[in-house]
Amino acid sequence: METSMSILPPIAFLIVAAGRGARFGGEVPKQYRELAGLPVLAHTLRAAARSPLIETILTSIHPEDEARYQAALAASGVAAARCAFAHGGASRQDSVRLGLEALARRGFAEHGLVLIHDAARPFLSEAMVLRAITGAARHGAVVPVLPVADTLATLDPQGALLANPDRSQIRIVQTPQAFGFSAILAAHLAAFGAGKTDFTDDAGVLKGAGQPVFTIAGEADLFKITLEADLARAERLLAGNEEFRAGIGYDVHAFAAGDHVMLGGVRVPHDQALLGHSDADPVLHALTDALLGTIGDGDIGLHFPPSDPQWRGAASHIFLTEARRRVEARGGRLVSVDCTIVCEAPKIGPHRQAIQAMIATLLALSPECVGVKATTSERLGFTGRREGIAAIAACSIAFIKP
Ligand code: MG
Repeated sequence: METSMSILPPIAFLIVAAGRGARFGGEVPKQYRELAGLPVLAHTLRAAARSPLIETILTSIHPEDEARYQAALAASGVAAARCAFAHGGASRQDSVRLGLEALARRGFAEHGLVLIHDAARPFLSEAMVLRAITGAARHGAVVPVLPVADTLATLDPQGALLANPDRSQIRIVQTPQAFGFSAILAAHLAAFGAGKTDFTDDAGVLKGAGQPVFTIAGEADLFKITLEADLARAERLLAGNEEFRAGIGYDVHAFAAGDHVMLGGVRVPHDQALLGHSDADPVLHALTDALLGTIGDGDIGLHFPPSDPQWRGAASHIFLTEARRRVEARGGRLVSVDCTIVCEAPKIGPHRQAIQAMIATLLALSPECVGVKATTSERLGFTGRREGIAAIAACSIAFIKP
């Protein structure tokens, strides 16, 4: 294996994602449906990127899906420099051909190998990718197959049993299908030129050009998400594959002249106000930093510099909402937040429920997942001297393991 790896040609990975999911129904094509917090395509991109042997990942997309593709790519965390997209066509066969032509235009090596894979098969293992690559390097063209465990039957038009075909001769064909790049490109162009449009996969296209296709072992988990039940099965497979990240935040604002303070997005009457560039809400500022902390994305001052006049007097829910958007764009799912407000006055108790409800609304959490607590500091330190209010926040966010 080691010697054959060292002489492997360049390898491209073509993801077919241009379909509209007619069998699936619903507004969003199945490859963009959410699976454990990420679009299905993001899982597939991640799986392809896991193999260091793959140099280019090109996704063939529907022209209307550019924004969906970009969101999936961002959510996958895969380096954008390794990825590209091309517009697909009306059929799967067209979309593959257009993807292959796009690879050729990008200068992909003629002697390279290409793995062609359905976007809706997200459970692609590194071992499967390696089998496809080494199989294509050895045989020129390979497809993953599975034996059929169940008894097969043919039916008459009324649905009555006719016969039981010999299942030992039958295989289920999956993707990724792996080919020499120039051979599969030539076969697709020939089929297109001849007006042959009824191939259901790329092995069929190559076989139609008179070339042999060999088989390698497929994987049961490599099923294609076609129906709602498949999405539920995929969710079950990913359950337990979450990791939880914690974030913390801390913020202080000093008192100044005024008649109210903003705490957790709630206006709390007081004989002083808090001084700050925005609305000086230490609770929402601490929460914003806690959220950003789970994705290593700096802090509130980085994204909303106090030197920027557009944030003067800004309502701080803007900051928290943007932090939530950033976390969710990386596939994060908010689980809970907790905060403690440190001050001698005003009294927080009468406003606790309103603050909890406001934060729950801003973060789309149920109130039982939002902690709001308050304490004095026993008249010690700056909060004890009633010079300002401090807030501490923590959060827990679930991410699917990369
Ligand atoms: Mg602040």
